[in-house]
Amino acid sequence: MDKEIANLIHEEQERQRHGFELIPSENYVSRGVLEANGSVFTNKYSEGYPSFEGLTEWMDERIAEEILPNRRYYGGQENTDRMERVAIARACRMFGADHANVQPHSGAQANMAVYNAWMEPGDKILGMDLSHGGHLTHGAPVTQSAQIYNFIRYKQKDTTTGEIDYDELEEIALKEKPKILLVGYSAYPRIPDFKRMAEIGNKIGALLMADMAHVAGLIVGGEHPNPFDYGFHVITTTTHKTLRGPRGGLILTKGKVGDPIKKAPPKTLENIPTLIDKSVFPGTQGGPLMHTIAAKAVAFGEALQPEFKVYATQVVKNARILAEEMQKLGFILLTGGTDNHLILADVHKSFGIDGAEAERVIDEIGLSLNKNSIPDDPLTMFKPSGIRLGTPAITTRGLTEKEMPQIAKWLKAAIDARDDEVKLAELKQEVAEMAIRFPLPSDPKKKAKK
Ligand SMILES: *Cc1c(COP(=O)(O)O)cnc(C)c1O
Repeated sequence: MDKEIANLIHEEQERQRHGFELIPSENYVSRGVLEANGSVFTNKYSEGYPSFEGLTEWMDERIAEEILPNRRYYGGQENTDRMERVAIARACRMFGADHANVQPHSGAQANMAVYNAWMEPGDKILGMDLSHGGHLTHGAPVTQSAQIYNFIRYKQKDTTTGEIDYDELEEIALKEKPKILLVGYSAYPRIPDFKRMAEIGNKIGALLMADMAHVAGLIVGGEHPNPFDYGFHVITTTTHKTLRGPRGGLILTKGKVGDPIKKAPPKTLENIPTLIDKSVFPGTQGGPLMHTIAAKAVAFGEALQPEFKVYATQVVKNARILAEEMQKLGFILLTGGTDNHLILADVHKSFGIDGAEAERVIDEIGLSLNKNSIPDDPLTMFKPSGIRLGTPAITTRGLTEKEMPQIAKWLKAAIDARDDEVKLAELKQEVAEMAIRFPLPSDPKKKAKK
């Protein structure tokens, strides 16, 4: 119906088919997720929340009766209610949570909703320094949250191992008494000590918040600790990174939920699920994206299957092997390797080029990754020292440890050939030839030739 956009969709599909996605925050969704995301649920307004019918084990029955009739603002919700309840139940099952809010439009919205639920303007929140791996939404000066709240920082103690400076963190926490202790990163290849963090946070009565946007799929697949096992109160995440769903956000909590439409309850840990529901809607969002929630439900269903464990295990294995192969070729890796799905390399120190230049030439051969600052980067944000890459998407495509040495060789070859257009074109051809052997999961299955 719209040739201009149809052509662009086709070209994007071809770009994805003929290259490999190494950006660690990206993935390829299944056909089921894609179809749900493109469904008629997009036509529906569903402000409010579904009733808890069928989820009564999470709440006291008196409340259930009281709030059943009046939790949506518009009619026609018989299917949206059932669908959102499925999404909530699956989300809880994935993380061992008591309550889930599946409505945040994105990871940023999820974080903002938690901040807004728990803090007053000017309150303090203790998170990782941005150049040490924290996310933009953890108080980058350019964000609205940085204007509202007071972000204070902890760091890695030793960037050659990635160990966090827990003693310094504890000192800051005891002195500053932040309302939230925030764990969770965008560019950190190691696993934080959730137990130690929880002990520190509990000493000062902080809300323990884990932003698991990057590693959520690894948690569900059993390849990364689950912060709830260490007493964390809230998990926020995106649904489109390792979790392999549609673009969106998700908030998980422990504890019973009350009625978010009523007057706000006191800000106690016990009331956290209700405070968060209220903060998502009507606090910070309007109508939820019901087509996206349908796609989330499909993705959560997939993540609960045994095959998802196999995927998560392979993601981590692929990352470890790719990191080793890169090191053999002279890449200097931050923290000396990886325990999760992502790798940070200091290309400036390794090869004397900046991360933007590396990103550009590697992109030219059909491999996407991103430039990234390294801790206390001597270079600028737009031409930083590092690149960041990861294995979730290529693992979804079906690549295993067998293909990792080749990926590492291409990365190095692109950097070496950065001034040689002919060589870069040859490499692009090689990448494309391999890529088309690994179809996107949403591609129609090829019919066997008779
Ligand atoms: C990606 C990410 C987010 C934000 O997600 P969006 O959906 O892009 O808003 C938040 N926190 C962390 C740690 C992330 O990596």
